[in-house]
Order: sequence, then structure tokens, then C-alpha cells
Amino acid sequence: MEDIRFLASEYTSEGEFAPARYQYKGSERDGWSVSRNKEALLALGPGYEAVRVERCGVCSTDLARRFLPYPLPQVIGHEMTGFHHGRRVVVEINASHKSRGLDSNCPFCRAGLDTQCPERITLGINQLPGGFGSWVLAPKGGIVAVPEGVDPLAAALVEPFAAALHGVKAAAPRDGEVVAVLGPRRLGLLTIAALAAWRVQTGRRFEIQALSRHESLLAVAQQLGADLGVDLNQVDAVSLEGRYDVVFDTTGSPEGLATALAAAKRLVHLKSTHGRQVMGLDQLTALVVDELTLLAGRHHHLHFQWPFQRRERGNVHIWVSPKVPDHVIESELMQTAVCGETRVFHRIPVDKAAARLLAAQAQWADVAARFPKHSDLPRFDAAIVADWDEVDAVIRPNPEIEMSLVRPRGAILVWADQAPAEVTRPLHHAVCERGVALQSSRCGDFHDAVALLAAHPQLAAALVSSLVTHVFPADDLAGAFDVAADSTQSIKVLVNAGMGLGG
Ligand SMILES: [Zn+2]
Ligand SMILES: [Zn+2]
Repeated sequence: MEDIRFLASEYTSEGEFAPARYQYKGSERDGWSVSRNKEALLALGPGYEAVRVERCGVCSTDLARRFLPYPLPQVIGHEMTGFHHGRRVVVEINASHKSRGLDSNCPFCRAGLDTQCPERITLGINQLPGGFGSWVLAPKGGIVAVPEGVDPLAAALVEPFAAALHGVKAAAPRDGEVVAVLGPRRLGLLTIAALAAWRVQTGRRFEIQALSRHESLLAVAQQLGADLGVDLNQVDAVSLEGRYDVVFDTTGSPEGLATALAAAKRLVHLKSTHGRQVMGLDQLTALVVDELTLLAGRHHHLHFQWPFQRRERGNVHIWVSPKVPDHVIESELMQTAVCGETRVFHRIPVDKAAARLLAAQAQWADVAARFPKHSDLPRFDAAIVADWDEVDAVIRPNPEIEMSLVRPRGAILVWADQAPAEVTRPLHHAVCERGVALQSSRCGDFHDAVALLAAHPQLAAALVSSLVTHVFPADDLAGAFDVAADSTQSIKVLVNAGMGLGG
């Protein structure tokens, strides 16, 4: 049995830091008890191993942490490197049945959606103590060794780089397209690097442009692979309209999303989670957490799926709002899914649908209790809603429970013909009238990201030299956050571990 004690700075609901004493007691096989100031905090089952933190990056999610729906205080931080059995490692943040190596019936882990496992907790974001402490308990399958030769500071960028790469693969720019990255700062610059690396890897021919109000960031964007930097101070908003096939919005601001929606022709990919209302939608952060896509109500959109989904899905089980007119689903075009399966339209109220999905999730092992029947997940493959209020309702039918009616990486079709409230109009105009898809994604595969960095040392070096502006000691976490929050001073801020009392 291991017994690890350390002093850590916790993040509070006031957005400040306060010290607390932590103790981890247990083992990978028998599970762990986590106590805080000598009181029991968490009982973690098996499948976690202790990793000593080396360093951890500050990201926008940390800066917005108090707006996210997870308990505080917590030791936060999720972009870490550490040491495990003497080797440098990075740690994937989702502690799922699969990453813990548990033999479970979990339909999500079985379907390859383990980063979306409903019973997961997440390192440094939801419950599991994070990388701004001296030690973490990491799901054993999420511990990924960093090859010799990869710059240790580049390794600290693996988590956000993997997330950026994941977004690029989901958006999958096509030959001849022009792709814009709006707000190329932390995640945005990583997205540019990921786009450039993916372009080389796949041989696709698309153009990458960086859009920013900061000249210095545009220069960095071009060093990392952007073909062109567009200074937003020099162009008027009208000239951007419909100019890009794909726009990555990494600004984390409502104004940024409005610009992205106006500038895009095919797709806006949203990567930020800040927990606040945007354009009248309360659940935009949850949309990103569940990696959902909003689409116009058009028949062919029922075939939507992510480009690298494991196998072709026909989107068989469709939730349909009782408010959607009959003729929409009576259309022959709607009836047949891929592989000739007949679609099943579930026209039941949101709350009833949510209650049935939740019950089915709890009794997954019982085949007779499965809902929807013959589905590999207790979720609908897509939803058709009649207005924007229903978009919120489908994403979080019960705001207390982290569950959507739609499967992770599924779609919500907005079949609204009436103009919504003023605040939602730019969203409605882009999605419903101009047919722009609003796609989102979250965590990526660390193995791919580490392999790419190991194979391209010059990319890793460029990321470090152009992104890492500050490295703080652990005892000045508040200072690190202040600098990270100030975009005139910093791009990426890293914090070295320290402050530990034991271990
Ligand atoms: Zn992050
Ligand atoms: Zn699971």
C-alpha cells in the first residue's frame, strides 16, 4: 500500500488559491482513498496509479474553471507531465472504465467512446486532483510514456495539442478548402500547428489562415504553419462573410463565435468551454463536452457522422420533438438509414425520453431493458428540434445530470422556420438559413499527438519556442494565473511542480 502526502494549492469558487493537505492511500489493485485536511474526500476504485508531477500548463479551461459545473475547491490542472517508474509520462485526463482497465459492461467504453464514459471523472477538472499538486492519481491506461528526445516542455503541450489534432481530424478540411483559425492564441496556435502537421500527414491541399487583432500572434501563427495572417484591425467584418470553408473558433468569446459563424461557409469548429451563455444558448459548453454538432433541418443531414467514426452508423434512432410537423418525418427521404435499416423516430417529450435513457443506462447489462432497442448506446443517434430552446433541452434535459439525449459525436438538426429571439438570430441565420454546421470536440488521442511530436522534433521545438512564454514555480500559482489571463503578456504559461511535503 502506498501512502503519499503533500501540500497543494486548491482553486476555490472565488477564483483564488488556498492551501490544503492531501493524502492518497491505497494501490492500483485495491483502490485509493483521497483525504483532504484529514477528512475523506474521494474513494477511488482500482485502476489508478500514482504519478509524480513534473510540470503543468495553465489553460483557458482553468481560467474559466469556476463557471464550470464541477465541485470546488479542487486541485486543478490537466496539462501535465510527470514521472512514473522513472520515465517521463503524460496523462490522459478521462478516468473511464476503459482507461482504468476495468472489466465493465459500460456501453460507452465498449463503443470506443471511453472519453465520453458517463461514469468518468477527469483529472484536474472534475473531482480527480490535478496537476497543480505534487502527485496525481492517473488512470493506468491513460499514462503515456514520452519518448527520449521529445523536449520536456513540448511534452507539457501534449494535452492541448492532442485536443487540437482531434478537432482537425473531426473537421477534416478537404482539398481546395480555405481554413481559418480565429483567435490564434493558446489553443488556436496549437490548432494551426495541428492543421499544418495533418496536411503533411494526409497530403491534402488546403490553405490555412490565421485571423487575429494581434500582429505578434499572426507572426507566430505563420511560424507554425499558417499560409497567411489576417489582421482583423485591417479588414471590415463584411468582407469576411462567407470567406472560409472551415473556421476554428478558439476565442472562447461570444463575439468570436459570431464572427466565426459569419465567416464560415461549411463548418465552424468550436473548441472552447467557458460555461457561460452564448447567443441565448445555455448549453454551449455541454455541446463541446459531448462533442455534438448543430445542423440545419435538411433531410441529408440525418446521414451525419464524424469522418473517422469507427464504423458507419446509419443514425437509426432519432428523437423528434413533438413540435416538429408530421410531414418532416413522413418524407421518404427520412425513412432509410445507411445499410438499409429503417429509422425509428421517437416522438416523445424530452423529460420522458431522458428518464428512459437514464434508466436504460443503469441497467445496461439487461438486454431486455435496453433503450433504444438494439442500439449500442442508451442514447439517440440524432435529434430533430423545432426551435432553439429545444436545442438546450436536448443537450441537457436535466441540467443537474451530465447527459444529452443524443450520443456523443451525434447531431441535432434544427428544423426551425421561425426567426428566434434577437440574441439567437446570428446562430439561426448561419445554421438554419446558410447551412453552416456548428461542430465541437474535446479531448484527443495522446498516442497520436506524442508520436507526431516525436517524429517532428522541429515542430516540437517551434511549439515550445513560440508558445511557452512563462514558467512559474509552484508557490506562485496565483501569479501564473494572472499572467495567463493577460493576453498582452503571455501565450502559454507552465507551472513547475514543487511545494510537496512528502513522497
Ligand atoms: Zn486544457
Ligand atoms: Zn465507461
